[in-house]
Amino acid sequence: MSTHSSIPWFDDFMGVAYRYYDLRMNVVPLLTDRKQSASLWHDTIHWWVDPSIKIRFVEIGDKYWFILGSDSQKPDTNLSFFKVLHKSENYERFKKGHGGEAYLRLGVYAKKTLGDVKKSALCNCSHEARDHDEGDNDVCLYNSCDCKKFASFQVNLSKRKKTITDILYLEEKDVKDDPLAWNCLNKNKYVKSE
Ligand SMILES: [Zn+2]
Ligand SMILES: [Zn+2]
Repeated sequence: MSTHSSIPWFDDFMGVAYRYYDLRMNVVPLLTDRKQSASLWHDTIHWWVDPSIKIRFVEIGDKYWFILGSDSQKPDTNLSFFKVLHKSENYERFKKGHGGEAYLRLGVYAKKTLGDVKKSALCNCSHEARDHDEGDNDVCLYNSCDCKKFASFQVNLSKRKKTITDILYLEEKDVKDDPLAWNCLNKNKYVKSE
């Protein structure tokens, strides 16, 4: 039997996106570097045994712990993922809509500037690129908006995917009964905060 306790925890990623893609909800850990994404897949996720992949969401206040782990055919390079994140609209949508199954993909997060995008692209301020003045440092032209510079991002999803069928939402008081979540919080929350 494999135990989760010996697998290193990995949290060097930006966050998690939840996207509809290929008719199913996708859970997408976000990286900023294409090479890092490729090697994570190649060394770790590729070797995961699909039916053993687990996601645990532990909700604490307005935040949640994202916890992802699996048995591996190559235990030497296995990792478990975790990240403490703010609850978001997309998170809530995933929670309501996943129906017990999701695809796991990696995503590479790319920042876009005004020169990279179409006029209709949305800025993080929610206004379109055409509403940002190219001559004046990209400021947003809406009077009510204090955005000083156009900024947007794009997530490129990996084609490769794994299927996840073991998805659980837990409260902190129930974490003790779940080996993966318990190991994560024990190592990364309780021991650290002592
Ligand atoms: Zn803007
Ligand atoms: Zn704006």
